[in-house]
Amino acid sequence: MKSDGFLFDGAEAENRPASAVPAVGPWLILIVDDDPEVHSVTRLTLGKLVFKGRGVAFRSAFSAAEGRALLEAEPEIAVILLDVVMETDDAGLRLVRAIREDMQNRAVRIILRTGQPGQAPEEDVIVSYDINDYKSKTELTAQKLFTTVVAALRGFEDIRALESNRLGLQQIIDCTDSLFRLHSLRQFSRGVLLQLAAFVHAGPNGILCVQRTVPGCLATGRETEVCVLAGVGRYAEAVTRTLTTSGVDPAISAVIDTVFEKRASQYSPEYTVLYIPVPEGPELAAYIHSHRALTEDDRRLLEVFTSKMAIGFANIRLYEDLQAANERLEQRVAARTRELEEANRRLEELAYTDPLTGTLNRRSFMEGATREVERARRYQRPLSVVMFDLDHFKSLNDTYGHLAGDDVLRTVVSRSRQVLRDSDILGRYGGEEFAILLPETPRDLAGQVAERLRQAIAAQPMIADGIAVAVTVSLGVSELDPAEDAIGNTLRRADDAMYDAKESGRNRVCLR
Ligand code: GH3
Ligand code: MG
Ligand code: MG
Repeated sequence: MKSDGFLFDGAEAENRPASAVPAVGPWLILIVDDDPEVHSVTRLTLGKLVFKGRGVAFRSAFSAAEGRALLEAEPEIAVILLDVVMETDDAGLRLVRAIREDMQNRAVRIILRTGQPGQAPEEDVIVSYDINDYKSKTELTAQKLFTTVVAALRGFEDIRALESNRLGLQQIIDCTDSLFRLHSLRQFSRGVLLQLAAFVHAGPNGILCVQRTVPGCLATGRETEVCVLAGVGRYAEAVTRTLTTSGVDPAISAVIDTVFEKRASQYSPEYTVLYIPVPEGPELAAYIHSHRALTEDDRRLLEVFTSKMAIGFANIRLYEDLQAANERLEQRVAARTRELEEANRRLEELAYTDPLTGTLNRRSFMEGATREVERARRYQRPLSVVMFDLDHFKSLNDTYGHLAGDDVLRTVVSRSRQVLRDSDILGRYGGEEFAILLPETPRDLAGQVAERLRQAIAAQPMIADGIAVAVTVSLGVSELDPAEDAIGNTLRRADDAMYDAKESGRNRVCLR
């Protein structure tokens, strides 16, 4: 997965709609009435109202149009005390429709107050207009107004809580969908922090830590250490260090330690630290700065978020374990394949070549001979054979030792190669006996090659185990009879010719 396409960034996290933020400060009450007297009486009656620790503040509009403008400017208005007859007989009722339908504001509580009940019959209005209460101004005593407004505020708060819960859950669903597509631990961790920041409506400044056991860590005297897995905002630099060396404020480190110690999330107006125990995995703690204390509802949502994230981390662990196992397996397969190829190559070498001199062994020489005989017969081309044997090699071995004998065998092969063509086939036929196939070569020419070979070997002494020794060979030459379909007889004749050479004094070439 490419990291550039990362689904979250700080800007997005900060641009979350603010509607889920619970209001702070006083409850806003909008009075819409064309009678200024109503405004002052209402303010007087409700001015001291305190509900859930929050007082009230008023906004005044003297027409439906003005009321609408005020509501658009301050969507946090909780209650509207609304007159019916203003610029028109039904101005208030039209405003209700505009608020619910055009502005789509279903949260604000609307209490309709009319001086002319006949103008808008209560039952009709309650049913056809989405309002929360309908009172005639005469019936609305100070006490009743107070009770009605408190009930409306309670209703507004409930609606807001439901709305913010709904948004929060939606946010969790949205973020888990996109987060769960991330398979790298680093990206996932960053994503969790950014989502968390969005959740607490703070800038994305936070770290995600993991607690690891350090077996026998004598230096610190601690059995566990806390490492920073991911950091965002001002903590981006802290990543991949231990918490103590990360430069994170010691007060924050202490809170994170407490979370691991108590295995429980910690909340304060300045921060939120979530404890995330990964199933069958490590314990994590996500620290994020916040601007305000979280409500009970926020915490409950964060618990849902936390349990989802724990599963996400477990998935990534499994995914990464699987990846690593796959890689190890691939590496092992590759290594085994290389070993096997090498073994095969060595085996092939052993099967076809003589380990001491590197020439073909007798078996592969015979295979070559079969091919050459076939070719010579098919195209009616000459094919000759030279057999040669080292002279008095036994006594050389006896005098200078077996290692010296080996050196001599190797040198005989290398000097032979210098005389032969690439198409000639040299093989070690026996202990100190060699055979050469000479394609395209009639017997007399083969005799000349054999003579050059004899001279190349006898010309100068060979260095054998550090000592210069004179070596000679006896050679026999014969040519394939076109009537024969195998090399056997030719080899036998060449061997006989070689014995001719031995018997007639060695270090010479004989032809048969
Ligand atoms: P001739 O001139 O009649 O061929 O006499 P020779 O001593 O060369 O022949 P003989 O067959 O008596 O001895 C062959 C010797 O070659 C005996 C054997 O130890 C030696 N020999 C065969 N293979 C090897 C080898 O791989 N290394 C060494 N160092 N000696 C070998
Ligand atoms: Mg010999
Ligand atoms: Mg011999």
